[in-house]
Amino acid sequence: MVGIEGKVIAITGASSGIGEATARLLATEGARLVIGARRTDRLEKLAEEISSRGGSVRFLGVDVTRRADVEQFAALALSEFGRLDVFVNNAGIMPLSPLAALKVDEWDSMIDVNVKGVLYGIAAALPIMQEQGSGHIVNISSIAAHIVWPMSAVYCGTKFAVRAISDGLRQETDRLRVTVVSPGTTTSELANTITDPAGRDAVAPFRAITISAEAIARAIAYAVSQPDDVDVSEIIVRPTASPF
Ligand code: NDP
Repeated sequence: MVGIEGKVIAITGASSGIGEATARLLATEGARLVIGARRTDRLEKLAEEISSRGGSVRFLGVDVTRRADVEQFAALALSEFGRLDVFVNNAGIMPLSPLAALKVDEWDSMIDVNVKGVLYGIAAALPIMQEQGSGHIVNISSIAAHIVWPMSAVYCGTKFAVRAISDGLRQETDRLRVTVVSPGTTTSELANTITDPAGRDAVAPFRAITISAEAIARAIAYAVSQPDDVDVSEIIVRPTASPF
């Protein structure tokens, strides 16, 4: 794929699922990577795998709810590789539940990770990219930014927010590219964050039809591979057999 080789790409939430698959694919295409998440044992293993195939990768323990962590993460790209071409705001959680269950702590966590985490990523990457005069921010939203289901009100709210923030950012910048990727149901560990039995039951039929994390990685790689004057602003990738 032309347009990826040599790019310095930071990915949050690279310890599993979509982030992990994206790191693997972009490394294969010759990107230099900085990968972050909280589970550093997973990151270390992935970094070793990528390095053993000749890839260039650094990893860092990052909690995206802490602005200082995210700043440090973007700074690592600069200190190790001298630039930051792409920042993929991928980290996310999905503890679904009915609003009446009042899982207020989980609402807070979803807002902190899915919305504030993305904003911290933008805050960390934007000054670097503005200084460079180029850059690309890829935000992972969801099909849940397009449709609302019972049990998903807060999760959908966070993903609608990611979509809105992404398009606002796109409109405010004429030299930086902004892409929002909205996956449909994808095989990953995302449903493990559900603690509410009703939430778990509600998600089961959706998760019966999934696509692989690699399918989303390919969509991200497609957006990244475009020339600087082409902004793939939004991509929805669904399982063919899914009605949602
Ligand atoms: P996974 O649960 O497999 O991956 C989520 C990643 O986010 C993990 O690497 C996890 O790492 C990281 N993460 C969670 N909380 C934090 C935090 N506080 N700080 C840093 N990293 C964090 O799920 P997916 O791969 O599916 O999720 C990736 C993105 O895709 C999410 O934004 C999700 O909402 C979105 N998405 C997924 C869909 C699906 O069906 N799978 C559909 C639509 C959108 P760690 O725990 O090590 O920190």
